[in-house]
Amino acid sequence: MTTPTESLGTVASAAPIREIDLAIDVTLPGIRRPLGAEHPVIKTSNEMVGIFKAMGYSVAEGPEIETDYYNFESLNFPPNHPARDTQDTLFVAGQESKPQRDRLLLRTHTSPVQTRAMEQQPPPIRIVVPGKVHRHDTPDASHSPVFHQIEGLAVDTNITFCDLKGTLDHAMKAMFGSSVRTRFYPSFFPFTEPSADVQISCFKCGGKGCALCKRSGWIEVLGCGMVDPHVFEFVRHNGYDPAKVSGFAFGMGVERIAILKYGIDDIQLFFNGDVRFLEQFA
Ligand SMILES: [Zn+2]
Repeated sequence: MTTPTESLGTVASAAPIREIDLAIDVTLPGIRRPLGAEHPVIKTSNEMVGIFKAMGYSVAEGPEIETDYYNFESLNFPPNHPARDTQDTLFVAGQESKPQRDRLLLRTHTSPVQTRAMEQQPPPIRIVVPGKVHRHDTPDASHSPVFHQIEGLAVDTNITFCDLKGTLDHAMKAMFGSSVRTRFYPSFFPFTEPSADVQISCFKCGGKGCALCKRSGWIEVLGCGMVDPHVFEFVRHNGYDPAKVSGFAFGMGVERIAILKYGIDDIQLFFNGDVRFLEQFA
């Protein structure tokens, strides 16, 4: 007597296919796919941009590979001026035959979008510009060759330093809490005059002094100032006569804001792609 398997000869050693192998066992636990989340830098950037959108600002963007003209010259950094040394960057190779103003580089700040926006839109203008910028910095706990900024620009008739102070004071309270106070002290940027650095009272210790504020009670968060009339000269043809309009500009580092807000001690954590770090913000 032979079994059915033996009668098939060549497939005798193969395991018979059982119907159960093809079925899905619905009682087994599934494979959970972790949900994605906003990166903390993008989250912080969106939050800050939202604060200014609520004040009537629109969002503008510009190229990360920028010309010398927009990154430096039109912002009152003349060729060979030492102010350029503070913003060293990567230059695209093989451009020696071009005039200097047309040579390409990785933008060192979001400020070139000020000129680009004013070329496209006559006053009044109110914009915020989030974006990625590049500096020739060695990576360490507080420096990165790539980071993010948010730029702001408001130009109209009769805009004063009081408008600048009120706008930034409101924005810092919206970001760090209504009990935060701001103070402005003199600084220098080629494209604003007068220029100021802005500090907020420490939101952690309330100004008494702690490790976060280095015992001073104050934390520096951004730079700002009134738009330099020389900057308006580059866009005068589009209605920006420095005798008729005035404005203010400001710029802040997004990672810096995120570091303060979330108590992070190393900027490199934002760029390492370690999911254990990132999932804390999900
Ligand atoms: Zn403090």
